[in-house]
Amino acid sequence: MAIIEQSLKPGARLPEDAIGETFGTSRTIAREALGRLAVEGLVELKQNRGAFVASPSLEEGRAVFVVRNGLERTVVQHLAGHLTEHDQERLRSHVESEQQASGRDEARSVRLAGEFHLALASMTGNQLLERYVTEVVSRCSLILARYGRPHSSECAITEHAEIVDALAAGDAATACELMEQHLDAVANRALPRVRANAELRDVLLPYAVAAGQVRSGVAEVVATRTKKRVRKTAK
Ligand SMILES: [Zn+2]
Repeated sequence: MAIIEQSLKPGARLPEDAIGETFGTSRTIAREALGRLAVEGLVELKQNRGAFVASPSLEEGRAVFVVRNGLERTVVQHLAGHLTEHDQERLRSHVESEQQASGRDEARSVRLAGEFHLALASMTGNQLLERYVTEVVSRCSLILARYGRPHSSECAITEHAEIVDALAAGDAATACELMEQHLDAVANRALPRVRANAELRDVLLPYAVAAGQVRSGVAEVVATRTKKRVRKTAK
């Protein structure tokens, strides 16, 4: 949960004894819990150094968003036209809570945004799907915590509301499209910012190649060298 709210920063150390004390459990239970989180990719266990909040790379970040997209499209496909009145009410009041928290309580906003996606997954009644969605949503929170604005869910609340409308209308195709666009927008708002932190060269290289500058630059260097050599030989 602390990871979802982004109050634990990627790379932060997680000492077993402190966790045990905080939650009133033994070190063994704390270790087991950390082991489980490591399996889910949320914690990194380093030999002789203990546990740390996982710090996903940009590439891992992109991979998580791809998987999340697939899983959540499956979720809305299952739910379209099958939501009970109670589920619809629950989702609408959830979106309302998100609107109320928006701009006022950032940690709560971030948590509610994540919980919207978990609520949808739980409504499918497919426990495996719910488990996987929970895992990717938590991983996305880590990515946002590492690369996004501080305490930012990057979820647009209006987009959540539109997804609920499409589900209630039983329009699976629209719901899928909306979910895909929503998650693409989340990824795009989260990941380009990475570029400011990433190695500048890695970021600029693809653009330079696309613009033909690298190749022509290399060609220029080669050409100059060749000319020099030619001149030398000529002399
Ligand atoms: Zn969202």
